[in-house]
Amino acid sequence: CAETRTFHSLRPTVQLPPENVLLSADAYTYSLRAPSPGDDSPVIINSTTGQRLSYSEFVRRSKTLAAYLQSIVGLNKGDAAYILSNNLIQVPVLYFALLSLGVVVSPANPINTKAEVARQTQLCRPVIAFTISTAVHKIPKLRYGTIVIDSFEFELMMTSPRREMVDVKVSQSDLAGIMYSSGTTGNVKGVMVTHRNLIAMTGSYMQRKANSPVVLLQIVPYFHVYGFHYVFKCMAMNVTVVIMEKYDLEKTIDAVEKYKVTDLAVAPPVVVAMSKKAVTEGRDLSSLETVASGGAPLGKELIEAFTAKFPGTVISQGYGMTEVIGRISEALDREECSRWGSSGKFPGIWEAKIVDQETGASLPPLKRGELWVKGPSIMKGYVNDPKATSETLTPDGWLRTGDLCYIDEDGFLFIVDRLKELIKYKGYQVAPAELEHLLQSHPQIVDAAVIPYPDDEAGQVPMAFIVRRPESKLDEAQVMDFIAKQVAPYKKIRRVSFVTSIPKNASGKILRKELKKISLPESFPK
Ligand code: AMP
Repeated sequence: CAETRTFHSLRPTVQLPPENVLLSADAYTYSLRAPSPGDDSPVIINSTTGQRLSYSEFVRRSKTLAAYLQSIVGLNKGDAAYILSNNLIQVPVLYFALLSLGVVVSPANPINTKAEVARQTQLCRPVIAFTISTAVHKIPKLRYGTIVIDSFEFELMMTSPRREMVDVKVSQSDLAGIMYSSGTTGNVKGVMVTHRNLIAMTGSYMQRKANSPVVLLQIVPYFHVYGFHYVFKCMAMNVTVVIMEKYDLEKTIDAVEKYKVTDLAVAPPVVVAMSKKAVTEGRDLSSLETVASGGAPLGKELIEAFTAKFPGTVISQGYGMTEVIGRISEALDREECSRWGSSGKFPGIWEAKIVDQETGASLPPLKRGELWVKGPSIMKGYVNDPKATSETLTPDGWLRTGDLCYIDEDGFLFIVDRLKELIKYKGYQVAPAELEHLLQSHPQIVDAAVIPYPDDEAGQVPMAFIVRRPESKLDEAQVMDFIAKQVAPYKKIRRVSFVTSIPKNASGKILRKELKKISLPESFPK
């Protein structure tokens, strides 16, 4: 639209229920298909254990579990549940059970430390937690305690019917989830997800034209928005999902061969590994039609290398973020995927603007600026953080993504750089502010700043700039070790530089651009 310089998607629009309609938030609502008792097509296969669930069994289990949680445990609409698990079949069953009770689902990474778990549970205030046996010790004391989901007891909760569940109605504006993101600046925040957000995210999907029934190998975790929204997407589209309890390249290749996988959902490091390693030689990956990559950029050269090795497979790059509850742009077919470097197009109900950071003006096609988006799956805000919410959401409904982008004349989105203070290590979020606070607590450190440093395999790694006390002999290894003891492994500091001062502006804000200038190799944007 030339007058307002707003980009409207030309994809077909998406029908959503009127906002005031109350709903039963069960599997049917989100999956958009009625569970028929005879539907025995597999929906989830655990490639680590070989366990598989059919669609009707999936629905049966989530209903049985919901009835147990309602009548025996006493969970009520509006309660929050913290979930700390890797990819297990139990997790999506649990998501649907909790959602059908109107319970707020809050998933997180099981490798988080006890301190990280404490911070997240202060945000979501759960009455109960669900976790794996190896992570139980990290959960604080909660009103209804902690349920171990890789246990025989949990299997019984999902499979032994006790009472009928009493139907719970929710408003579409009620909270369905709390996810975690550091947003554009600062520490981790709780992203509030509504039921309408989930319905809209599921409804926005368009099925790509597949040559055969879609079998998706989902490597991305259920606790990150990328894997989280796939639960709903796959259910809605009748996709068979193969999961892996722990990512391993060789086992990924085994699973592609064994289950004739057609689609892979990954973050860029997996594409890098598949392009480089000899591990795929002599293996039959001919079933693989599409590799969906997202969460971090995948450069043109990497796509080239991958395509040279696997000419029959296309890479569909997509763009999304926790604050929009999933992916909001993607390449759908071979022709769209051939725009290497692009992250595809927006679905029908989304609008986008490219905003000049200095003037606030909306820019025309091909000009670079901050991407602002508007659509029905934008978060409600950050939990108890009106300041961060108002810095991210405008009063007229736009979300500032903090990403430097442009949109071409055909509506394809290109991500150029990140304006916000966010490091992405293998697609996982690392907030510089969190590491800076920890560094500043070290008795021999006067000041510290953390920036992203480019890395071939991980995309980016956290690099620390340290100002030591004058007499201090603190070395690189000690700095790295100090942080490694306090954070989940993906947040570790992997490069250190000692400096005499940290460049700051008049109000004390760290000038990260200056630090990038002195540290980054010539070829990287600064
Ligand atoms: P998260 O909330 O963890 O999903 O992180 C969202 C951020 O990841 C976005 O704001 C981008 O900075 C980055 N991101 C996601 N997808 C892409 C992509 N295809 N290319 C470049 N950056 C991406």
